Amino acid sequence: PRGTGKTSIAKVFAKAINCPNSVDGEPCNECDICKSITQGSNSDVIEIDAASNNGVDEIRNIRDKVKYAPSQSKYKVYIIDEVHMLTTGAFNALLKTLEEPPAHAIFILATTEPHKIPPTIISRAQRFDFKAISLDQIIDRLRYVAESQHIEFDEEAIAFIAKASEGGMRDALSIMDQAIAFGDEHLTLQDALNVTGSVDEASLNALLNDVANGEVKAAFARYHQFIEDGKEVNRLINDLIYFVRDTIMNKTAQNQTEYDALMGFDFDTLYKMIDLINDTLVSVRFSVNQNVHFEVLLVKLAELIKAGGASKTSEPQTSMNQPQATQTAGANDVNSTLLQRLEHLEQELHALKQQGVPQVNTPPKQQTASRGR
Ligand SMILES: [Zn+2]
Repeated sequence: PRGTGKTSIAKVFAKAINCPNSVDGEPCNECDICKSITQGSNSDVIEIDAASNNGVDEIRNIRDKVKYAPSQSKYKVYIIDEVHMLTTGAFNALLKTLEEPPAHAIFILATTEPHKIPPTIISRAQRFDFKAISLDQIIDRLRYVAESQHIEFDEEAIAFIAKASEGGMRDALSIMDQAIAFGDEHLTLQDALNVTGSVDEASLNALLNDVANGEVKAAFARYHQFIEDGKEVNRLINDLIYFVRDTIMNKTAQNQTEYDALMGFDFDTLYKMIDLINDTLVSVRFSVNQNVHFEVLLVKLAELIKAGGASKTSEPQTSMNQPQATQTAGANDVNSTLLQRLEHLEQELHALKQQGVPQVNTPPKQQTASRGR
């Protein structure tokens, strides 16, 4: 995947095989050779971006020069980034070199799309697959960078950036960079949202509350406000997917959340929502009028919820912590969430009547009462 350190590792590798002071294959990072590779000024370590040099001529140029011995290092290292962008002719020219490479030459081919590399090339290479970087690792790294630069930050900003970067460390760092430039010295969630064009969870929650209550007009108005504020439809759809995903996670782990617009729905409805949102993500990509697609999505979601209304489950542990979220959402939503809570309570009462009171730990009230005696 992008931003997971492919060319960075290629450079470390170039250092490791060329550094005269390396210990157990570990380069010193301090000698002239190491430093020149870091700075990109070492004439024996040649970086080529195939995305901008996809022609046969460039590869022929490599082929003509590869036979000359390296000037300052032990090995010549060619790093060809985004190698899948090479044309067929260029691949063929490269193949000739890969078939009989001089002993002093090493080729490192990096790509985000290995399936586009001809098998003739792959069969002559050792393959190393890089994986997306985990959320926790990205959060740790962002925190480390911010702290070492003495930049104050909100934890939620870091967590959001890590999530938005989808496993790409480079993206995470560049979003954080821009967000810091956006607001001065203190990194806030709002800065990060502005940079990515995302909508914050409270607003998404309000939007989905409208949808869940069948108030499609209000949802439309809210959506148009997002667009007026400069949010992007694509981002918004991605944010929706994450919102539903978080809801599923919270339900599974029985976590409480203030963003609980969808917590009352069963898993089946939530899965169907993800499918609907995903379909829209695809159709929006090929569409001129993205607004229509998003509005249709809102209607479809509302209809899905209406149709699955009976499958709404009672969720006692989630309905306790609502006032924070609803205060910003307007009186209508407060009313409907109150109604939802009443429904939950009724369902719980009903269940209790049928099953009897379950054996639970002594509630704290009784404890204080008995102590009083
Ligand atoms: Zn060194």
